[in-house]
Amino acid sequence: METHPVPEVEEAKKGRTKPKKEIDSLDKIEAEGVEELQEKLKGMKISKKLKKKLLKEEAERQKILAYDPAFHCLKCKEKEGIIINRGDRSCESCFKQGCIHRFKTNLRNSLKIWKDNSNLICVSGGPNSMAMLHLMHVSLFGESQRKMFFKVHIVHIDDGVVYGWDEEKRNTNIQLFKDACEKYKFEYTILSLESVFDVEKLNPNTKEFTPPIEDSKEYVNHHYQSTEENAEKLRELLKYPSELCSSREDLIFNLKKWLLLDFALKFGFKKLLLGCTAVKVTSKVMSEIAKGRGLSLPNDVCFVDDRYLEDIKFMNPMRDYLLNEIQQYNKFNEVSVIERTSISLNNSKKAKKLPGFGSMNLLCEEFINELQVSNVQTVHTVLRTSNKLKLGIVEDESKNYCVLCYGLVDHATNILEVGSHIKSVSLEGELDLMESENDTWNTEFEQHLCFGCKRIMENAVDKERLIDSLPTFIKENAGL
Ligand SMILES: [Zn+2]
Ligand SMILES: [Zn+2]
Repeated sequence: METHPVPEVEEAKKGRTKPKKEIDSLDKIEAEGVEELQEKLKGMKISKKLKKKLLKEEAERQKILAYDPAFHCLKCKEKEGIIINRGDRSCESCFKQGCIHRFKTNLRNSLKIWKDNSNLICVSGGPNSMAMLHLMHVSLFGESQRKMFFKVHIVHIDDGVVYGWDEEKRNTNIQLFKDACEKYKFEYTILSLESVFDVEKLNPNTKEFTPPIEDSKEYVNHHYQSTEENAEKLRELLKYPSELCSSREDLIFNLKKWLLLDFALKFGFKKLLLGCTAVKVTSKVMSEIAKGRGLSLPNDVCFVDDRYLEDIKFMNPMRDYLLNEIQQYNKFNEVSVIERTSISLNNSKKAKKLPGFGSMNLLCEEFINELQVSNVQTVHTVLRTSNKLKLGIVEDESKNYCVLCYGLVDHATNILEVGSHIKSVSLEGELDLMESENDTWNTEFEQHLCFGCKRIMENAVDKERLIDSLPTFIKENAGL
C-alpha cells in the first residue's frame, strides 16, 4: 500500500522530538515509556505544569513509535484506520472531522461565505445534497470552537413527475426531506418542478424578471403545490427530446435551474449552494465538451458560477468530495437519502443497449469511476486542471445567453463545429455547407440557443412540438 513518509515518525525514531527551549536541561532524562519517565521525575524538583508537559510529550513519542501505517489512522496515529482514502488510513472520528473542516474551509475561502449572508441550500435529497445538509448543520450548530454564523434556507424541488412516482411515493420522499430539515432545525421550501410553467418573466439577455415579493415570509416551511395541468404539460414536454446524448437529463436540469433562479429572485437570495461533488464535476468536464458545451464549461464546473442576473451566484461547496467520502460520511452519520435512479435507466430497450444507456453523462461518469479505481489521483488531477479553465473568446459587450440553458451563445466558426450540416463534399474539395438563415439549424428559435442546445433540438423526436411545449417565458425570451 502506498503511504506517505510521516515526519514525526522519522523524528521519533531518531530520538525524542525537539523539546522547547525552557525544558532543555531536562532533555537528558532518558526514559522509555511514560511510566519510566514518571518514576524518574518523582525525585526531581519540577513544576507540575512542566511535568505534565513532559509526560504528554513522552506519550506522544510512544504513540508515534508504535504507529503502523498499515493499521493505524494517519492523523491521530492511535486508533485503527478503517477507511482508506487516497491511499491513507483514517479512523472514523478523524475522517468526520476532516470532512467538516474541509467544508468550512471551502465556505470561507472559496465561496467567501462568512456571516450574515442569507444562503439558499438546494437539496435534491440525493446522497450528495443530504451530506451537504448535514455538514451545514454541523458547521452552524456543531460543538466545534470555530462556529460559523450565517443564515440558510433550504429549498427542495419535487421532481416526482419526471420519475413517474405516484402520490404516495412523492409524499414519502417529501416527508423524508421535511423530517431532515426539522431535525437539523432549518427552515425550508418545497417547489414542484412543474411550476416552472408558472414562471412569468425571466430573461437572461434583457435582464427582466418577475418583481421580487417584498417582506414576505410566506415561503417559510411552505410547499408550493402545482396544478395537474402543469404536470401534464411537463409530461408532454419530456416526450420530445431524444433519449440519447443526455438531451432529456440536460433539459430537466436546466428547468430546475430556471425554477431556482426564479425563486431566488422573488425572495432575494443571492447565493445558491448545490451539492455537486468531485465525480460529478470531473465527468461534467468530459461530457460538456463532448456535447459541444465547452464554452460555458469554466462557469459550470467552478466553485462559484457568477454569470446570473442580479448578482446571483450558484456555488459548489462540495466540489472536492469524492464519491466514497460521501458514502462513508452518510453511513457514519446515519444520513437518510431519497433514492433515485438516473433518468436514462428508463430509456427504451434500444437505447439501453448502448454504452452508458445512451446517456453521455452516465458514460463519462462510468469512465471517470473506472479510471479512479485504478488510479486514485484521477479525479483530483482533472479537478486541478479544470481550475485553470478560463472564460475567453466572448467579449463582455457581446455576451449573449442561451434561453434554454443560460450558457453562452457561440457562433460556429469552422467546419468541424458546423459538423452535421455539411450537405456534401465533392472530390475537388468543394464543400456544400448550410447556407441560409432559414436552414433547419438556424430557425428563428434556434438563433437564441447555444451550440449544445441546438443539438438537443436537432436530435429531438419532434422539434416543433418540443419547442411548442416549452414553458412560455422561454418561448417569449426567444421572441416567439
Ligand atoms: Zn484518527
Ligand atoms: Zn443552451
